[in-house]
Amino acid sequence: MALLLVLNSGSSSLKFKLFRLPGLEVAARGAVEGIGEPQGGAWMEVQGRRFALKEAVEDHHRAFSLLSRLAEESGLPWRREGVAAVGHRVVHGGELFREPTVIDDGVVEAIRGLIPLAPLHNPANLVGIEAARARFPQAVQVAVFDTAFHQTLPPEAYIYALPLSLYREKGVRRYGFHGTSHGYVSREAARFLGRPLEELRLISLHLGNGASAAAVLQGRCVETSMGLTPTEGLVMGTRCGDLDPAIPFFLMRDTGMGPEEVEGLLNHRSGLLGLCGENDMRRIEERARRGDREAATALELFCHRVRKYIGAYAAVMGGLDCLIFTGGIGEHSPEVRARCCRGLGFLGIDLDQGANDAKSRRTRAIHRPQAEVAVLVVPTDEELEIARLTAALMAEVQEKS
Ligand code: ADP
Repeated sequence: MALLLVLNSGSSSLKFKLFRLPGLEVAARGAVEGIGEPQGGAWMEVQGRRFALKEAVEDHHRAFSLLSRLAEESGLPWRREGVAAVGHRVVHGGELFREPTVIDDGVVEAIRGLIPLAPLHNPANLVGIEAARARFPQAVQVAVFDTAFHQTLPPEAYIYALPLSLYREKGVRRYGFHGTSHGYVSREAARFLGRPLEELRLISLHLGNGASAAAVLQGRCVETSMGLTPTEGLVMGTRCGDLDPAIPFFLMRDTGMGPEEVEGLLNHRSGLLGLCGENDMRRIEERARRGDREAATALELFCHRVRKYIGAYAAVMGGLDCLIFTGGIGEHSPEVRARCCRGLGFLGIDLDQGANDAKSRRTRAIHRPQAEVAVLVVPTDEELEIARLTAALMAEVQEKS
């Protein structure tokens, strides 16, 4: 029986999930964390058993060898059963990649060429690709891009009102991220509703530590809230989201901060963290319930921004059939979901409080039976989506050869 490996190689972590082909049951999962940081380590779960080790991991090459060592120690079946395919999450595909793509030397070079657009992420993704190509030379290697789902955006949604030459010469435009998740939950929502995706007007809300919204009209993404970078759009754990573009210049003039400092402030010290000192939504809700004003403001600002986007995207699509909540916050917080839907009865959004409060790990409806708009909670599974896309491409490659 062959295996399919999904790799998510981030700036300070390397996560993986191992699936059995053809059914895509999970055989193992694990991660190396704290890459390039003083405290590092790796863990792995194989058939309910957990293996872990702690040691400093200076870079991604070391992370990969640590993972291989742990795989041997834990009796992971990748040597015995063979890895037939590897699916790689790649953050930035620019305008070059609209679909999952079989990796060859040319694709590696193209991903490298996109580093200026994703200076933290694409280099880490490339290390994962190179290590996996060396370790599993027989396997079909596939790149699945976070940006690809949003390549259907029309120009009026992706071009910024800047001199057009900046788009043409420098690629300054909206790309959007979280595409694998938005694509997965959109299809899952259509399946759950028993309706063709091509008939639906959907808004997908991926609310995690990073957060983004996407408008999906007849199966095609037509708007999304993240932009050239993941900083734009919704309020996030540590990112500010939408901002008056003149604020960074004001800060530089007024405080003497340099561009890197301002960039760090907007990405790592803003959002929920900047507003109330922490970015764990569970804690923020708890504090708000106890009357903490800063936490209450952070919570309401987060949900207000989401409501604004729901209204805007319903207008872009000429109406709405289904609203989807996903991501750590979207899947687990009835409080946030209720606040995001508050006052939206005029759009046909009508939550069922009991259904919204009920706990479940499955896709479920949380609207009242008579509501015009279906409101769904859909647990996202980016690794499974990457596995499916990779398996489909592998089948195509095998058919051709
Ligand atoms: P990432 O973007 O890093 O993948 P996740 O999708 O895992 O993040 O989401 C993390 C967020 O989900 C955190 O803010 C966490 O507090 C929040 N979260 C998880 N469970 C709950 C819950 N039961 N109630 C409210 N927020 C929750």
